[in-house]
Amino acid sequence: MDTLHLTTSQEDIETAARILRQGGLVAMPTETVYGLAANALDEEAVSSIFVAKGRPSDNPLIVHISSVEDIERYSLVSSFPEKARKLANAFWPGPLTIIMPKSESVPSVVTGGLDSVAVRFPSHPAAQALISRAGCPLAAPSANLSGSPSPTTAEHVSKDLEGRVHAIMDGGPAQVGLESTVITLCTEPPTLLRPGGVTLEQLRDVLGQVDLSDAVLNKLNEGAQAPSPGMKYRHYAPKAKVYLVKAEDDTFRDFLSSKDKNSTVALCYDEDVPHLSVHTLPLGEKNDYTTQAHNLFSALRSADEIPGTQVVYVRCPDTEGVGMALFNRLIRAAGFEVIDLE
Ligand code: AMP
Ligand code: MG
Repeated sequence: MDTLHLTTSQEDIETAARILRQGGLVAMPTETVYGLAANALDEEAVSSIFVAKGRPSDNPLIVHISSVEDIERYSLVSSFPEKARKLANAFWPGPLTIIMPKSESVPSVVTGGLDSVAVRFPSHPAAQALISRAGCPLAAPSANLSGSPSPTTAEHVSKDLEGRVHAIMDGGPAQVGLESTVITLCTEPPTLLRPGGVTLEQLRDVLGQVDLSDAVLNKLNEGAQAPSPGMKYRHYAPKAKVYLVKAEDDTFRDFLSSKDKNSTVALCYDEDVPHLSVHTLPLGEKNDYTTQAHNLFSALRSADEIPGTQVVYVRCPDTEGVGMALFNRLIRAAGFEVIDLE
């Protein structure tokens, strides 16, 4: 199929909304990463998302809404817990996905057969306008081929999905740069399943006790059941081999000084650049996790574009604040391979 390239003008939003109402697929900008959207209440349209991405069918999708009232309007949940209201007040619109008990109206293809549904109200104005003009909730996973780094620009989407989706809407680079934080209210206390722009510390400030799923920071044991299906799959990975390196500044720089300049790339901090002779992809200043998050997926994609790249060494972040989300993505990109020099 020919992929239509759209802007976020009112006219283009109407075009995209029409495509969605007719059961088509539209890649839309959001503040987390670009999403591949279809009408969440149209089973066939949702099924085509899995085909376009090559996504395993048991990996559920997030349902995007453009107001808290949409949850009731489209009767998405069988109950709207008080804790959901507190989270919505604190973090919506924004990069937080809330998992709640699902209603009959949500097709099981959206939830990978689970009896819960993941809901998010994004803050990106173009996403909000598209959802409300489409007149339906939008199921949207990240708009990349399954397994590759999530797209933070319309160009990334086009690299992966040109010819596989009806339209790509360019709304500029994604502000956060990492997928949403995912919390489930189907456990007591609630459990953080995926860290993102909203941090564990912030969730605990609002809800009190929040558990951290083991699989956020650790590899799932062979045969163990994933609390969230997405945790099982290889993710965020460039084609080159990625290693996470736990080291102080000088040790990291010394370690890289012995590496082959033609095949090694360092995903590092801005402060490392003058001290390294291998190719560098700086993510931001050492203590600026927000900027690092914004740049991470783009850097992982760039690594593959540097001719000859075979190995990417990445500095290992602390797991405080947004650092937890960075660590969670990087440890998966590295297939849990950590070189510990501390
Ligand atoms: P993506 O849309 O690609 O960012 O992925 C959405 C993530 O949310 C996946 O990793 C899923 O495993 C997770 N998710 C979505 N719905 C549910 C649910 N009902 N229960 C648990 N995890 C979910
Ligand atoms: Mg994804």
